Amino acid sequence: MSKITRRKFLAGSAAGGAAMMMTPAKKAFAAGSFEGFPDGMGVLVDLTRCVGCRTCEAACNVEQKLPEPALPFDDTSVFDEMHHGQKRRTTDKAYTIVNRYEPKSADEPLYRKIQCNHCNEPACLTSCFVNAYKKTPEGAVIYNSKVCVGCRNCMIACPFHIPAYTYSSVLNPVIKKCIFCYDTRLKEGRPPACVESCPQQVMTFGKRKDLMVIAHERIKKNPGKYVDHVYGEKEVGGTGWFYLSNVPFEEAGFDVNLPKKPIIDNVKDFLAIVPMVLTIWPALFTGFHLLATKGKSHGHGDDNSHDKQEGH
Ligand code: SF4
Ligand code: SF4
Ligand code: SF4
Repeated sequence: MSKITRRKFLAGSAAGGAAMMMTPAKKAFAAGSFEGFPDGMGVLVDLTRCVGCRTCEAACNVEQKLPEPALPFDDTSVFDEMHHGQKRRTTDKAYTIVNRYEPKSADEPLYRKIQCNHCNEPACLTSCFVNAYKKTPEGAVIYNSKVCVGCRNCMIACPFHIPAYTYSSVLNPVIKKCIFCYDTRLKEGRPPACVESCPQQVMTFGKRKDLMVIAHERIKKNPGKYVDHVYGEKEVGGTGWFYLSNVPFEEAGFDVNLPKKPIIDNVKDFLAIVPMVLTIWPALFTGFHLLATKGKSHGHGDDNSHDKQEGH
């Protein structure tokens, strides 16, 4: 598949029907290598600079008009929270969270901000059978919640466990995740709220390709400071947000066993790893969803809408 065709596919998010068959576009997505949009933006995250102040979480909360959290953003007891043996994850009410790690190879704790990494070849997008997702030329992975049927395929597919759901409506749960501040900032070339708010300049916003050069230069110019790896340069086909660290990435909670190629090269791969009940469920759910929303405008032509407020 040519890059042009692949880009067209990534950019296209015409709302699909309930068909579970692999579309020609998704078949085509399986071949070749997409390096990301040439001028796509990204964020370089330097973990050595983060002090765990959670200002970025607060900024996201305001920018995305999310509900107030149970504990204020200056409460550091959240770093001790464990949920089913796991550290905090992003939720439908918190599109970014900061976690604390105790790396073996450092005396100091390490803080890490987590949000969608805006993959070059997003598994969420590939796994979504109603094409709710879109990778924009600016670099964001956004979604149209009016199309989402809440099947959770993307939640299972995402290698970073990012998509979350809101269940405020029984028949209409929809995806919620970081959208790179697409509507309010990225579209106009402005940095995301979390990036701008950080008092430590942990995050650098710019063209992904330029930031990658900066990342490697920073490693070279500071011998001994960083591990010689940019996490996200190659992982799962490359991510829009990528990381520098002073400790091995596994000590900062990163999955270092992810493949260098996209996590789901094609829909057939995805169906092979998902239990059958989950492959049938979306089709059933779509039926319910269509009945429940019959007569409502679905805005199928509105590719750019991710409709952040729906479901709140
Ligand atoms: S991090 Fe997950 S939700 Fe974000 S673009 Fe990648 S696959 Fe999709
Ligand atoms: S890019 Fe925007 S939506 Fe994503 S975590 Fe930052 S502030 Fe939140
Ligand atoms: S605002 Fe910056 S320093 Fe504070 S927690 Fe977020 S990334 Fe870390």
